[in-house]
Parts: sequence; structure tokens; C-alpha cells
Amino acid sequence: MNSEWWHRFLDLSSTDDIELKRKSLIFYTVSYAGSLVLFFFSFQHMTGDSGFLFLFLLVIASLVLVNSLLSHQKKYFVFCCHLACIFIVFLLLGLIYSGGEKNTALYWIYPFPAVFFILLSHRSGLLINLLMFSGVVYLLNNQHLLMASYEEVAIIRFEFALALTIFISFTAEFVRSSTHRELSALTIEKHKLAITDQLTKLPNRHFLETVYFKNIENDVKDYFPMSVVMVDVDYFKNVNDTYGHDIGDKVLCHIANILQQNIRQSDVVVRVGGEEFLLLFAKTPLDVGVAVARKLGQILARTPFVAGDMTIAVTISLGVALASDKQNVESAISAADKLLYQAKTNGRNTVEF
Ligand code: GH3
Ligand code: MG
Ligand code: MG
Repeated sequence: MNSEWWHRFLDLSSTDDIELKRKSLIFYTVSYAGSLVLFFFSFQHMTGDSGFLFLFLLVIASLVLVNSLLSHQKKYFVFCCHLACIFIVFLLLGLIYSGGEKNTALYWIYPFPAVFFILLSHRSGLLINLLMFSGVVYLLNNQHLLMASYEEVAIIRFEFALALTIFISFTAEFVRSSTHRELSALTIEKHKLAITDQLTKLPNRHFLETVYFKNIENDVKDYFPMSVVMVDVDYFKNVNDTYGHDIGDKVLCHIANILQQNIRQSDVVVRVGGEEFLLLFAKTPLDVGVAVARKLGQILARTPFVAGDMTIAVTISLGVALASDKQNVESAISAADKLLYQAKTNGRNTVEF
């Protein structure tokens, strides 16, 4: 088992999922509601004098609609977010070109800097905002290219206000996303702490109940048959009494390391009590489980704890039982516990199964 075992069990993507959920909520609201409104405005111009607006709004509304339908394919979602922003930029530039209904185009620009940041995060969001801003400034300062005309004083004030809106939206998104990252890291760190035994850094009992047993429920075929091994250090009280509690702690860490280093990646060792450990060997029949338990007992017996000129030899007793499916994991653990005490009465430093 790797010393970074918790990587395998903590769902590091769960905080990203929350972020994705928020993004899709806004994406679908903007896309579906937006295309509906655009269709509405487009049809309003169907009989009016602006054939350009009718066609232009119709095309953009259709593109936005098709894009949001496509984005339901999960693998295209991020791509569709980018595409939606590009369509919006075209929409805004087209509105400025035509002036929109009663020359009100400029008002429609303001909500979108924030939308770009929400859909694309702060870096790509800034890029598309700058693209939109440059396009808008270019058109407003080259009015001979436009169908509409805007007042000089309004243009300058509008450009300043838009730059300010982009800046504020950027700052808000930047602060929000870094806070989100910090909170995610904190959540993961807290979860890791809760499932780790602080002395040995092994998984603890809480890990067993809240993580491991849940994983078993979800992926039954990856775990059974499972060999379950209860381990108890022999005469550990003597170690504490002879060398003191601090050395006792170090000996426990030494035992934990040996157990951890001599099992497979897919196995786990849990510190379930003071000097008691539970080993769970996934997809392991009883004879293999017993053989590994014996091997661990032998390795430990010939690897004493050494510090300076002090050498402390320890042995362990082990009880091995088999869980054939998720219903009898608990009963296999208590069977292994009973077998462990049998190993104790049979003289210790031995394996019972
Ligand atoms: P047995 O072979 O019957 O298991 O004998 P034992 O002495 O190991 O059994 P007992 O249950 O009497 O003693 C267990 C000892 O483990 C007593 C307790 O002080 C010690 N212990 C439990 N947790 C820790 C710990 O975190 N650090 C240290 N240093 N000692 C601990
Ligand atoms: Mg004990
Ligand atoms: Mg003991």
C-alpha cells in the first residue's frame, strides 16, 4: 500500500463537479432563455423595416440553440461554452452595427462580460472580453462602417463604463475562483485528516466505515473474495513499560511501515485500535491471505526496531478469515478477531485461520 493511499480513496474531482454544475446552470439558462428572446426579437423585425436584424437575430438564435443542444453531449460541453461566447460576441457586434431596436444596442453589452467570465474562467474570459471590447471600440470609432450612428459623448462614456464592467467582472471571478480553490484544498485536507491515524499515518477506523465500506458497495466485483486479517502486537505493554510510551509510539510506526510496505497496492492496512491492525486483501482467496499473513509475521519477527544502540524485537499474532461478499465482511472481521485471540492462546507470533 502506497504512503499516499488516500489519493486512491478521496474523490478529488468532487469539488470540480460543483464548479461544473454551476457553469452548466448558467450556460443553459443563458443559452435557452437567450435563444428564445432572440427568436422573439427576430420575429418582431420580420415585418418591420430592418430585414438585417430579422435575419441576423434568427441566425444567432438558431446557432445558440443548436449549440446548447449539442452541449448535452458531455464531452462537448467546454467547447460549447467557448462557442456560445463567440456567438454572443458576434451578436453584440451585429447589434452595434445595426443599432438594434431604436438604437438601444449599447445597453445590451453590459450583462455579458460577467457571463464570459462565468463560462470560461478568468483567463479565457479575459481574452474573449478583450476581443469583444476591441471589436466594439473599433466599430464605434469607425461609424462610417455602421448602419447606425451614435453620439460622440455617449461613445466615450460607454467605452469607459464597459472597461470598468470588464475589470470588475474579472476581479470578482478571479477572487471567486481562487477562494473556491482554497476551499477545495481545505475540504480535502480535512477529509484526509479525518480518515488518517495521526501516529502511524495509516487509514483509521473512520476510513473503514465512511470510505472503504462505501467503495465495496459500489464496486463489489473488485473486492471479493476478500481475505480479512486481524493483527495484534504481542506483549506490547512490555515495550511501553520497558522503554517508555514515546519509544512505544515509534515501535508502532515501525510495525505500521512494515505492514504497509509488504502488501499490494490494492490492499489496505487500517489501525483499528492501540496496537491492533486490520488488513483487507481484495480479491484474495483464503490460502493466499494466510500465506501473506505468515509472510508478514515472519518479516516483522526478523526486522526489529532499531534506534541508536537500542534494538527492540516485536512479534505479531494474526487471525485470517474470508469474506465471500459484502454482506459478510463484518462477520469475517469478527471471525478474524476470534482467530487472533486463538493465536494468542496458542503462544503468539503465529497465524490462525
Ligand atoms: P498481548 O500479547 O496479549 O496482546 O499483550 P499486550 O501487552 O500487547 O496486550 P495489552 O492489550 O495488555 O496491551 C496493549 C498495550 O498497547 C497497552 C497500551 O498501553 C499500548 N498502546 C495502545 N495504544 C498505544 C499507543 O498509541 N502508543 C503506545 N506507545 N502504546 C499503546
Ligand atoms: Mg490489543
Ligand atoms: Mg497486544
